Amino acid sequence: MKKKKIYLGSFVRLKQPSYLRGVVEETISYNGNSFMFFLGSPQRFQVVDKNKLDIKIFETLLKKYQINRNNVFVHLPYLINLANYNNPRVLHNSKQLMKANLKLCEYLQIKRVILHPGCALKNNRRFCLQKITEHLDEILEEFPSIIVCLETMSGKGSELGRNFDELKIIIEKSKHPKQIAVCFDLCHLYSAGYDLIKNWEGILKEFDEKIGLDKLLVCHINDSKTPFYSQKDRHANIGKGQIGLQPIQKIIHDSKMEGKTMILETPYIDEQPPYKEEISLLLNLDNEK
Ligand SMILES: [Zn+2]
Repeated sequence: MKKKKIYLGSFVRLKQPSYLRGVVEETISYNGNSFMFFLGSPQRFQVVDKNKLDIKIFETLLKKYQINRNNVFVHLPYLINLANYNNPRVLHNSKQLMKANLKLCEYLQIKRVILHPGCALKNNRRFCLQKITEHLDEILEEFPSIIVCLETMSGKGSELGRNFDELKIIIEKSKHPKQIAVCFDLCHLYSAGYDLIKNWEGILKEFDEKIGLDKLLVCHINDSKTPFYSQKDRHANIGKGQIGLQPIQKIIHDSKMEGKTMILETPYIDEQPPYKEEISLLLNLDNEK
């Protein structure tokens, strides 16, 4: 059997004192070859101090471990809501926070970022999606090297991006569609009503028809604690949720997913990251029965 190149890694923490050295070394300690991190607390309107980011060390380590920057993703903060058009303060802060993140990405030469599309709150969903496009375009214009991957959401509360049609609305109206791509999240997809167990092929086909498979750059690999179409967002460890190990393994090894980055975002177990074990479990086809 021809060995496929699989880019599998995890969420890692940018933290003192090691910062960028830390995120690469943490990845290597899990035997990962891709990773994703936040450039600050996901819940605060702040980014890490640029002086803490040693780009030379980052460069050296990425080279040493042969990690391509295409497999390095920054997750933008959860607080950003470009759909909140009727709250000028939140909208302004969202844009500022996004720009501050993208400036650091430019500095680090990281091109690919992940964004939760936003929340409609009590507003009309379609109108909100149009507002996201408008505000996203304004930001993308300033950052021509950046590609924003919109994440598929579970649809909890008023979350936007709960299906491919909503993501399509954001992308197709954009003046910079080449700078917008998509991030799958297996937990969110399953929870939003995409049956990964019975209909993975159909899901990919639908995505390809509506948005285009080449737009799918990255996939968050999570099981789901809550059942199919529960519209909740509770990540479970691999093989310990409602999706199960085999469907997730099948997705990772699917030839249509070749070249796409896979990132584990599963919960810590007894305060310990489960990523080394989960990477090994997912890559080991002997588990496939
Ligand atoms: Zn996310």
